[in-house]
Amino acid sequence: MRSKLVAGNWKMHGGTIQNRELLNAIIAGTEELGEGGVAVFVPYPYLSQSQSILQKTHVSWGAQNVSQHDKGAYTGEVSAGMLMDFGCRYVIIGHSERRALYGEDSHTVALKFKAAQAAGLIPVLCIGETLDQREAVITEQVVAEQLDAVIELAGINALADSVLAYEPVWAIGTGKTATPEQAQDVHGFIRDRIAASNPEVAAELKVLYGGSVKASNAAELFAMPDIDGGLIGGASLIADEFIAICNAARN
Ligand code: PEP
Repeated sequence: MRSKLVAGNWKMHGGTIQNRELLNAIIAGTEELGEGGVAVFVPYPYLSQSQSILQKTHVSWGAQNVSQHDKGAYTGEVSAGMLMDFGCRYVIIGHSERRALYGEDSHTVALKFKAAQAAGLIPVLCIGETLDQREAVITEQVVAEQLDAVIELAGINALADSVLAYEPVWAIGTGKTATPEQAQDVHGFIRDRIAASNPEVAAELKVLYGGSVKASNAAELFAMPDIDGGLIGGASLIADEFIAICNAARN
């Protein structure tokens, strides 16, 4: 039985005073989920603060991006080893905002996935289609291509030490959530595709849903058989909302 994970992607939001309040509220409000059920992805400058507040609690933390290189003349970049220095357990790889705004193609995403794992991080690999792609009925083709780029570089077994997040781009930050059935259809497709190469990996792999998840729609999404929790953007910045979403994931 796969346990659920709810993870907050803070994007470029935060400040030391509000972070402290938010993290302390999350710790207190999600205690019953236990180790492994809750994570936050904070901007790089707040990794140290997150580590000092969250270490010895059940809440994990991670970063929102990582370099594919392990060191060198890459001004402005942060390596996976550096994230390990700050106690990160996870890192988001290939978020649609990175793909769309910073030109990360599937090959670069795959290199980042591999670099993260090589350093001991658990990559949370984001895949998903745009509205145009959904309307052109190529959703499955798009997510398959995004997934296959990682499988080709890292191998199918590498997925065992990762988390996937299906995030339809048209649902991110738009208030437009995929219906539970729409999300389940794609989650089922992803799991079946992986199962065709390795059924054990497919059965164990967590596939999160992301895209305008709120306290009011989390439970129905998380009740779907192939949805193993959520990657939460906007609602992860509001303590009561995020806590309610986390608690909706309790099995
Ligand atoms: C995200 O940033 O991954 C996300 C899902 O954002 P939102 O919940 O705001 O749609």
